[in-house]
Amino acid sequence: MPFADLGLSNELLQAVTDAGYSEPTPIQAAAIPPVLMMRDIIGIAQTGTGKTASFVLPMIDILAHGRSRARMPRSLILEPTRELAAQVAENFEKYGANSNLSMALLIGGVQMGDQIAALEKGVDVLIATPGRLMDLFGRGKILLTGCSMLVIDEADRMLDMGFIPDIEEICTKLPKQRQTLLFSATMPPPIKKLADKFLDNPKRIEVARPASTNTNITQWLVPVSGGGHDKRRRLRELLEQPEVTNAIIFCNRKTTVRELNKSLKQHGFKSGEIHGDMEQAQRIAELDLFKDGHVTILVASDVAARGLDIKGVSTVFNFDAPWHPDDYVHRIGRTGRAGATGTAYTMVGPEDAENIDNIEKLTGQKIARLAAPAEPERAPRDEAREESARLPRRERSPRAERPQPRAERSEPRTERPEPRAAARPPRREEAVDAGWNGPVPDFLHVALSARG
Ligand code: AMP
Repeated sequence: MPFADLGLSNELLQAVTDAGYSEPTPIQAAAIPPVLMMRDIIGIAQTGTGKTASFVLPMIDILAHGRSRARMPRSLILEPTRELAAQVAENFEKYGANSNLSMALLIGGVQMGDQIAALEKGVDVLIATPGRLMDLFGRGKILLTGCSMLVIDEADRMLDMGFIPDIEEICTKLPKQRQTLLFSATMPPPIKKLADKFLDNPKRIEVARPASTNTNITQWLVPVSGGGHDKRRRLRELLEQPEVTNAIIFCNRKTTVRELNKSLKQHGFKSGEIHGDMEQAQRIAELDLFKDGHVTILVASDVAARGLDIKGVSTVFNFDAPWHPDDYVHRIGRTGRAGATGTAYTMVGPEDAENIDNIEKLTGQKIARLAAPAEPERAPRDEAREESARLPRRERSPRAERPQPRAERSEPRTERPEPRAAARPPRREEAVDAGWNGPVPDFLHVALSARG
């Protein structure tokens, strides 16, 4: 079914074309028409299925008419974490570029003053984590009585994080006459109960699980006994395989992105980097180099790489296992796209074990472990020299022609130890704030994007 048949406005069809989407994903095809008809929806879908656009697109059209009033948002989207909230805000920015809708993001870790100022001006779309919303509500800064559309996203994750009582309370503050959309990857009994209580004759839409069970992607865990040094050595071995024609390598931290890219370049790989500290123009330039094949390896942070849709990526590496299991699905989904096959390797050091447990729980799959290499571990002293000598297939950079024991030996010292708290997924949004290390997009500072 083409996008044009879903009932969206011409402006949105243009935005979808600009985003490079040729046809709706199954959740979009099934959800957009009933949402436009103002039906309540239960969408059983994970991230990676295109579910965000399945509510953002029709919301933009529904909210196109009408005016916002001070402190009275017209719609509310609840997200369990600030990363997800920021991602939804990015979607509004992307698809709503031609609309005059104003948006505010209420999340922990951002100055409350800006958020309050945004609310005072009146917003069409309020995207919030439950904790910060309840806080501002308690201070009398928000009235939810004008909110005629509610989205509860990632409901089962909200349950895991203990947000259900907050959500119940928020629901009671909204008008009874409203449209409610609930999305959840699974439907455990408390979520079913929530839906029964707060949704009105909802249409239930269920779509297949995405990338995690995408059989086009072969997934491997790569056990590594030591720290960053060992990981880099093992990574280079895997990169040397002939089937790795190009690769995106994800790291949890911007510092790791920088250090790894530097190290790969020193070893003669044609690599580049994208992370949140880079200007948008720089990121695009680096991406173009990768798309054109001038660099074959892109080292990336999650947020910088979110939504990347690059055709023909043969391999994804998780240099660190992601803190949030959803990010695993996002990351590996950068390969095996559009019917192609791909491989995803996740390096597993001692500090990654808990994250792997969470990923396997989320996806319901055990990921196979790659056997450890037979050769004994090399001393750091010899490594760079030997690696450099073993790189005949790849163009060596001028620097890599010379042995570089100095640079390589100095690297472990620059490796930052990971704080313990960040190694497990945060339980509440306060904890997410503490662990946040992604780029801070503009809308996190300003919390209001009013156009027109
Ligand atoms: P989501 O499940 O909302 O997190 O979306 C997962 C990814 O799919 C995002 O990178 C979107 O940009 C992308 N996406 C959303 N809709 C489409 C579409 N119709 N065609 C291709 N990609 C899409």
